[in-house]
Amino acid sequence: MAMRPHVLVVAGSDSSGGAGIVRDIETLAAFGVKASVAITAVTVQTHAGVGHVDAVAPDIVAAQMRASLAANTVAAIKIGMLATSDTVWAVSSVLEDRPDIPVVLDPVLVSTSGAALLPPDAKPGLLALFRQCALVTPNLPELSWLASGLSEGALIQAGDLIQSGARAVLVKGGHGTGEQSIDILLRPGHPAHSFASPRLAVTMRGTGCMLASAVAARLAHGDELAAAIDGAKAYVHGELVDEILHRT
Ligand code: PLP
Repeated sequence: MAMRPHVLVVAGSDSSGGAGIVRDIETLAAFGVKASVAITAVTVQTHAGVGHVDAVAPDIVAAQMRASLAANTVAAIKIGMLATSDTVWAVSSVLEDRPDIPVVLDPVLVSTSGAALLPPDAKPGLLALFRQCALVTPNLPELSWLASGLSEGALIQAGDLIQSGARAVLVKGGHGTGEQSIDILLRPGHPAHSFASPRLAVTMRGTGCMLASAVAARLAHGDELAAAIDGAKAYVHGELVDEILHRT
């Protein structure tokens, strides 16, 4: 029987279970993928707000990653909240040793409730880290912060990230308007690829974590990037429909 593939999750915990590592592991399990973790921060959260963030020391984040990579045959890495600039650089140094593993990075900057989850001084490190990632998945506010000072307009901003070395950027349209929620994949040397799903009248925390983890899961199963995104989007859409059906 084939072994279940393995994904290493580098992310923060969220006590409410709405986002972060809990969402990541739930998503990986739904795709039949095993998980290991490098915890970057412990956060005290309800669904309404972030009470406290305790960042894990960067060398301990790197050590957790190295231990996971030594213990398991890791087929993909998912990165979420990184918490500090030093952690961004520590994660980057571990990835330098394993360029063979595809990395999906969700650039977590603020919670839906408005709390900062990464300080502004982390931007240069984050932009450098993008070069080591198979895919970066900013939403529209994240994209505008990442590309600030460069240019206006989501697609031009995403193009700027590609110019600065990102290998693939998925611009997530969830924060936009219109009947369809459209995500656009930009890659050097490829035409832009759109992924559309009907926009649903529901908000749910942790959808960014879910999408990036689902892409990592599909990559771990051997999908090529566009197929992995297709499958991941269908999964998140299904979870949103489920939220509507089971909302109390
Ligand atoms: N807390 C943690 C640990 C996260 O990783 C994230 C997002 O990835 C959030 C909070 C923010 O999630 P939301 O925007 O759904 O509040």
